[in-house]
Order: sequence, then C-alpha cells, then structure tokens
Amino acid sequence: MNVLFTEEKLTKYAEQFLKANFNIDLSIPIKRNNRLRSSLGRYVMDAAGNPSRIELSGNVLTYAKESTIIGVLKHECIHYAYHIQGKDMRDGHPQFEKALEQFNAPSTETLKVGKFFIFECVRCKKRGETRLKRLAIKPNDYRTHCCQEKLRIVGETIYRG
Ligand SMILES: [Zn+2]
Ligand SMILES: [Zn+2]
Repeated sequence: MNVLFTEEKLTKYAEQFLKANFNIDLSIPIKRNNRLRSSLGRYVMDAAGNPSRIELSGNVLTYAKESTIIGVLKHECIHYAYHIQGKDMRDGHPQFEKALEQFNAPSTETLKVGKFFIFECVRCKKRGETRLKRLAIKPNDYRTHCCQEKLRIVGETIYRG
C-alpha cells in the first residue's frame, strides 16, 4: 500500500503543478477510484461538459512507483488545463501530446500496473499472465488459448509502471 499518496497529497501536488505551469486554480477534486479498471486515471466531465473531477485508480495508487503516479496525475491535470484554456485536450492530439512530453507525463493511461498472476498451460507449458483474480482462485474454470487445455497458476508478479 502506497500511503504517500492520499487524495490530499495528490490535490496539493495538482494545485501546485497547475498554478506553476498553467496559472490555473484547481477547482475540482482529485479522487481515488478503486473500481476504475480500464485506465490508471481519468479526467471526468459532468453531463453539461463542465470539469467534474480527476480520478486515479486504486490500482495505480497501490502498486505504481512514485514517478508513474505523478506522471498519471500530470496527464490528467493537463487534460483539465487544456479544457479550461479551450484547447484541444484529446489524447493523441499533437498539441496535447507535446504538452505531455514537455511535462514528462506518460502519453497513455493504460500502462501495465498492478498484480498479475502467471499461469502455465499444462500441455505445452506456455506461460501467460492475467489480472483476473477469478482465474487464480478457480483455474479449473478456464482453458488456455494455445491448447484449449487446463492451466495452473505458477506465480504472481507486480508491475509498478
Ligand atoms: Zn488522457
Ligand atoms: Zn498450450
């Protein structure tokens, strides 16, 4: 558990980052979201298209190294800053990507982070990995892609981004 990064600390960091680099006051909360699985973080707008909040996944806050957490936070802050400034804030837009590079933030919110289970095909011994906890608990419910055979869990590994 990474106790360093409370919502309070993340908020402080974001406030300073936005003030120093964009001269913007942070007016939305920074939240930990333990159910956010599709990405490490996201910038959320309300139904009217106004800034609502920035979320960081519980996964990234628990497992990622500090530089990755800060990188993802900066990425979301730049979405927010660009939105406030009326710039194109879409992922992949050249201007947005340039800002990510300038501030040393990752250009993707889907870096590999967290605990993965390593499994092995019982027939060909090919190995794979999965985040599915269910597979680790009930491996007999699953079959491998390679041989349509049973698999067994042989270990686990943690990616820190
Ligand atoms: Zn993004
Ligand atoms: Zn196989």
